[in-house]
Amino acid sequence: MNIKETFSEELEKLKVSGNFRSLPEIAHEGRYIFSRGRKMLDFSSNDYLGIAAEGKLWKEFSDSTDIRRELPSSSSSRLLTGNFPEFRALEARLAGLFGKEAALVFNSGYHANTGILPALCDGNSLILADKLVHASIIDGIRLSGAKYVRYRHNDYVQLQRLVEDNAAGFRKIFIVTESIFSMDGDEADLARLVDLKHRYGNIMLYVDEAHAFGTRGDNGCGCAEELGVTDEIDLLVGTFGKAAASAGAYVVCDGLIREYLINRMRTLIFSTALPPLNIKWTDFVISRLPGMKNERERLREISGYFRERLAAKGFCSPSTSHIIPIITGDSQAAVLKAGALQEAGFYVLPVRPPTVPAGSSRLRLSLTANMSKTEIDTLSELL
Ligand SMILES: *Cc1c(COP(=O)(O)O)cnc(C)c1O
Repeated sequence: MNIKETFSEELEKLKVSGNFRSLPEIAHEGRYIFSRGRKMLDFSSNDYLGIAAEGKLWKEFSDSTDIRRELPSSSSSRLLTGNFPEFRALEARLAGLFGKEAALVFNSGYHANTGILPALCDGNSLILADKLVHASIIDGIRLSGAKYVRYRHNDYVQLQRLVEDNAAGFRKIFIVTESIFSMDGDEADLARLVDLKHRYGNIMLYVDEAHAFGTRGDNGCGCAEELGVTDEIDLLVGTFGKAAASAGAYVVCDGLIREYLINRMRTLIFSTALPPLNIKWTDFVISRLPGMKNERERLREISGYFRERLAAKGFCSPSTSHIIPIITGDSQAAVLKAGALQEAGFYVLPVRPPTVPAGSSRLRLSLTANMSKTEIDTLSELL
């Protein structure tokens, strides 16, 4: 067998098991996706507040900013010539909004999660991560080279035992979780994690709020704000590519940790910073997030309504949020069901291994604040 045949054989296997992937050929218009001559309401985007689809804020931004003066490239890492004043403004806004000492902005959530743990861990570190954390966190754990255990999803009894057994053996322990989980749409118990952390002197809490930033909390700062535990979380991470309708990511933390990351974090040091234009747009959106209470309330309401409808039809879903999976188990079944919904005008996508554990393929529906009850009703009828 020649080298290329080994690849084509692997792809064949993916096709047989229903796990083959390809880039969808799609076009966008507001809340709709166009594909193969069909117009479909987008139930797969992470534009949870509808900011990207509506375009109203972008218009306000582009009308009020001299966009031609904003550069479309930073041309360098922030440690060289890429550190534009826009970064300082955004980081100051984030630190102020969260009431934390410092913030640091990254090119993406993937950069954040693959960079933070490798920077902070040493030979004397242990990482305890929820079994269902995002692939980017798993890659960060692997790159860190630290010892790690992935505890059963939201199983804090197991987590506590792991802490008890290991607290004396390591200088630093990192507990890592998402707040709203990206594939199950359920939530970590942040208050309980904070409580556990406080019983030991050598634990840092690392929480990824990718799906909660913008959608939860009085000012949109996420679940930590909603639960009043922002101060207790050492590394509070979120992304700008979802509800904030932009690109990039942040960590809010104390000043010392920020300084340490600037010195040690390879995905920050060795990558060209985001364009100043993009940072300025992010800053603009975030200035509006605290005021988007109606959108958050609407998202909460419509999500609760949809979960109730599903429960009434006998589906069981772990979700407590706007991310609502319908688990089919089998990959082919998920693909077929998604295809049928697309035929009916709803852009729903299957999620399969390795994004989710084997045997837990699903449809992943994500709701946005601009959906109506009628649209939810029509979709529910089809399920
Ligand atoms: C989307 C996501 C990321 C990655 O963020 P990007 O900015 O898209 O790279 C990280 N963590 C979680 C939980 C996510 O859902």
